[in-house]
Amino acid sequence: MPILEQAFSMLETHPLCDNCLGRQFALLGRGIENSERGKALKLILVLQASALNLTNDPQGTKVLRLLIINGFSREAEEAMRQSGKRLPRLQSKACFLCENKFLSLRSLGDEALSALSYYEYSSFLVGVELPVLVEEREDEFRAIHGVAYGESIRHEFGRALGKMLEERTGKTVEYRKPDVAIVVNPFSGTVRLQINPLFIAGRYRKLVRDIPQSKWFCSKCRGRGCEKCDGTGKMYPESVEELVSKPLLEAADGEKTAFHASGREDIDARMLGRGRPFVIEVSKPRKRALDLASLKEAVNSDSAGKVEISTLRIVSKDFVGKLKKSEGVQKEYFVLVEFERDLLEKNLAFLEKKLSDALIKQQTPKRVLHRRADLTREKYIYKVNVKMVSPRRIEMQVRCQGGLYVKELVSGDDGRTTPSVSELLLNKAKTLKLDVMNVLMDD
Ligand SMILES: [Zn+2]
Ligand SMILES: [Zn+2]
Repeated sequence: MPILEQAFSMLETHPLCDNCLGRQFALLGRGIENSERGKALKLILVLQASALNLTNDPQGTKVLRLLIINGFSREAEEAMRQSGKRLPRLQSKACFLCENKFLSLRSLGDEALSALSYYEYSSFLVGVELPVLVEEREDEFRAIHGVAYGESIRHEFGRALGKMLEERTGKTVEYRKPDVAIVVNPFSGTVRLQINPLFIAGRYRKLVRDIPQSKWFCSKCRGRGCEKCDGTGKMYPESVEELVSKPLLEAADGEKTAFHASGREDIDARMLGRGRPFVIEVSKPRKRALDLASLKEAVNSDSAGKVEISTLRIVSKDFVGKLKKSEGVQKEYFVLVEFERDLLEKNLAFLEKKLSDALIKQQTPKRVLHRRADLTREKYIYKVNVKMVSPRRIEMQVRCQGGLYVKELVSGDDGRTTPSVSELLLNKAKTLKLDVMNVLMDD
């Protein structure tokens, strides 16, 4: 059916605003708004009908009346007046498809802008919620009229609001990783914001022992506070997580933070070298343009001598996934080992030879069995260097795959880790000091 006839048959059955009529032909022509398409179709119908009306063809009068009632067309009214014919009584009807909601788009935009005014953002996405009835009604309408070039009402609402907000804020619509999602329901007039988290990456060094990486709840009260924890709810007064998160949370004016890191060192191990990569996730941040250099200074001076951070930067959510994958990450450790019996000089070379380029079978250590599944993992050691410091003590440098438990590599964990230092030398060994010297990851 030719377009004009199709448009007329739509208007014959239902009142339609310019947007909703034009939307049925949205894929025709480019760079044209649906409201312009709808208006153009109505105008041509008015011109055709006017010609007939002026020659007193009753069909012309009939079409003009219809365009006044169902097309809300002022031009049709003028044409009718011009011919001196009586105007139809105007029943104030609303558009069948959108119930005139396209007319109140600007006030919906105002509402979104006032909700957004509390937040800093550079990109956004508009989501549209519609009553089921509205979409079903349009589906049926499209089926009846054989609409082949249309756009959905949801899509037009989203597109139109997105464009309006781009113009009014100077920010851009971003589909994949917007800072905020604005969810509107044009029918109930509600606006809801979904503020996406801010991810700040860096590396931390832990210069002292006995600070845990993350906040550790009291084992007795689980955080409520009791006499065991002096009412703090925590096993340790501070943690790397808390020392680093607090200033960032305050600066971003967010709701809370989550701490993600590439592995963790034991509480009694230091984290040295270039430090361990981490990400602080701040939920519902009101500020995103942070002065990271001065925040780094603030953290480092507050935690001086304990924790030190570097290379702060904003990253995307994907980085957290990358951080959590231990494969491919290499770690370097420094271990001070003590033996039960005196060592022989040849023991050192033997250890280096047996543990360099070696695959270690490690069953989950007994000390972490309460929180990790009992599995046997294979971890690769690239290089081990050994230096004697006294007849029963050595210093070991170990470069290995991330995830190797180094204390158990030394002790053997009653045969759960093999080979081990104890097993290879038939001399019981234990770890006196452990430091992580490096986490090698391209971040
Ligand atoms: Zn409409
Ligand atoms: Zn407690």
